[in-house]
Amino acid sequence: MNSEILIVEDEPITQRMIAANLERAGYRVRCAGSIAGAEAAIGTALPDLVLLDWVLPDATGVGLVRRLRADLRTREIPIIMLTSRARESDLLAVIEVGADDYMRKPFSPPELLVRIKAQLRRRAPQTTDELVEIAGLRVDPAMRRISAGRHTIDLGAIEFRMLHFFATHPGRIFSREKLLDKLWGDQVYVQDRTVDAHIRALRQALRPSGLDGLIETVRGSGYCFRGEQLESA
Ligand code: CA
Repeated sequence: MNSEILIVEDEPITQRMIAANLERAGYRVRCAGSIAGAEAAIGTALPDLVLLDWVLPDATGVGLVRRLRADLRTREIPIIMLTSRARESDLLAVIEVGADDYMRKPFSPPELLVRIKAQLRRRAPQTTDELVEIAGLRVDPAMRRISAGRHTIDLGAIEFRMLHFFATHPGRIFSREKLLDKLWGDQVYVQDRTVDAHIRALRQALRPSGLDGLIETVRGSGYCFRGEQLESA
């Protein structure tokens, strides 16, 4: 699934330039020109990353970073600040307040793309197109293909996203609620037992290659993918 990026920038030319570059690189893009607009956009659906201008017509981006970091729903969103300020103390304050990175204006689009990719890889690896090799599985999001040795594993769209998500978060326990947020989006109403049904379908698809045991049910907590990532990937 292509990552969605929210661009919060009040200068129309800059906003359009960034949007065009991101779309060309395959990202889905939403735009806001103010803090209020950004909050409304985030309220509707969580983006995978926020590009946030420092000075906006209704407030500064710094306050928004603080609020996003304080809220459980939004605290993990990667945020890259855009700023024309050059003082080191200002730039460090951006990181201090909770942004992940900053770009000093004017910046080159290729550099912005590299920084975006780095943040997504770190905070949301399931949104990138990078090949994952783990526990005998090979997950190729770009080709939408999963294989185990010589077996190709055919999966529905949700099961594919589920296995990709698990494979990029090995050893962690996820509740049904968390899986719902990550796989369906947090504003979509889906019942817990839907998760169980997709887990069953996923295990069934993995059974012929003997890998169905990788997805463990943790009683009272949720599900966990047991596997170790290979460094060669
Ligand atoms: Ca501005």
